[in-house]
Amino acid sequence: MASRWGTWERIYLDAEAVGDRARALIAPAEVCAGCPIVAECADLAELSGYTGIAGGRGYRNGREDTYRIRDPIKARRRTA
Ligand code: SF4
Repeated sequence: MASRWGTWERIYLDAEAVGDRARALIAPAEVCAGCPIVAECADLAELSGYTGIAGGRGYRNGREDTYRIRDPIKARRRTA
């Protein structure tokens, strides 16, 4: 399991596109769905500043890794 987990994390962290990242979370999320400590795992990921997959989600520096799904064009639409 440990080597598979490492492979999943490497694929997740190397993925550039949002869709690739989402696909990379499918297999580990299935494992996490049956884990009895999923809430504690997510808490620890946040508290420890974890980067990788925990609790079935992707984390970057302890925050859920959602920045890539923001619309980069929308951020530039601000007017003065
Ligand atoms: S919830 Fe955390 S401890 Fe449980 S399988 Fe997922 S990553 Fe591992």
